[in-house]
Amino acid sequence: MARVKRLFLSPPHIAGTERARVGEVFDSNYIAPCGAMVDRFEAALAQHAGRGALATASGTAALHLALRVLGVRPGDEVACSTLTFIASIAPALDMGAHPVFVESAPETWCMDPGALETALQKHPRIKAVVAVDLYGQCCDYAALETVCARHGAALIIDAAEALGATYKNRPAGAAGAAGFYSFNGNKIVTTSGGGALLMADATKLAHARKLSQQAREPEPWYEHAETGHNYRLSNVLAGIGVGQLELLKNFVEKRREIFSWYVEELKGLVAFMPESPHGKSSRWLTVARLPACHKAERGKPSENVLRVIAALDAANIESRPVWKPMHLQPVFAGCPCFGEPVSEAIFAEGVCLPSGSAMTREDVAEVCEILMK
Ligand SMILES: *Cc1c(COP(=O)(O)O)cnc(C)c1O
Repeated sequence: MARVKRLFLSPPHIAGTERARVGEVFDSNYIAPCGAMVDRFEAALAQHAGRGALATASGTAALHLALRVLGVRPGDEVACSTLTFIASIAPALDMGAHPVFVESAPETWCMDPGALETALQKHPRIKAVVAVDLYGQCCDYAALETVCARHGAALIIDAAEALGATYKNRPAGAAGAAGFYSFNGNKIVTTSGGGALLMADATKLAHARKLSQQAREPEPWYEHAETGHNYRLSNVLAGIGVGQLELLKNFVEKRREIFSWYVEELKGLVAFMPESPHGKSSRWLTVARLPACHKAERGKPSENVLRVIAALDAANIESRPVWKPMHLQPVFAGCPCFGEPVSEAIFAEGVCLPSGSAMTREDVAEVCEILMK
């Protein structure tokens, strides 16, 4: 029998002071894209990441600002993890840059540093590298930093899915020249929509802040020496963010627990996304890899994956295939991709299971029962 209330993949989980913080904003009447709550949210993010933080309207906006202040120009190349959501590369295309994709390492599913090395040797015009912390797991920050430094490319960490994860003792997003988070509704912490840019270089972050507010020069009148964007996070939404961030530690522990429940229920039947030895994943989403009965057609999930997703959907449970690699997307036909086709197999066999931090053990058992059938 189908559930009455749909079990979503990763719905918002409001469980703390969010409503009270939004109330504070209403009381102050700063219903604007700036204000004390945004300052407070940025301070909390900077404290978490150990880097300066700029709150933005989305993760995509934060990435666009990073590419701009790191000097990406039309005609440059930008390398990017192929196994990701399209937002990791779309802003670079808007800027007139060309993508070069890089495959995953089998032990992390994140960007393979060896494949990036080859890409940088063959494409000296790569100005920036967007490396994705996939499904809550940090990529190999130290290795990627070394490779990028050797070739003079700026490293940007797309930590949209990995807030709360760690690489050794560094928080997700605190590596390279810039990092960013997303607070979209399905992420581990949400502001309904929002993001943050993290940078250690205070001058570059100040430039990003200026660009996020239409690039106004510091004059009493409206003076512009360059053009910018309207990319600031609303003060109202920052209230949700301040409340949510207080819960982050609990959310990470709960998502990791949900992952361990899936492993217990499905032990031996399916493989799971491995956890890299140099970090602690937030397990934003639990990703299982189903054995394929037939070889999947290239660019499509296996029959098994599609059948499981349909069976769960019929029971009113949301699940999804793994991100379809960018180098297999029609819009990027002909773009180069370096490395072994690790992401293609993960895409063919992988399914993202419901992982929201409000889930119960019974919810997980129900998902697994349907999946096993
Ligand atoms: C969600 C996501 C983004 C984009 O974040 P928005 O806040 O939705 O703009 C970028 N990259 C990855 C890997 C994501 O999962």
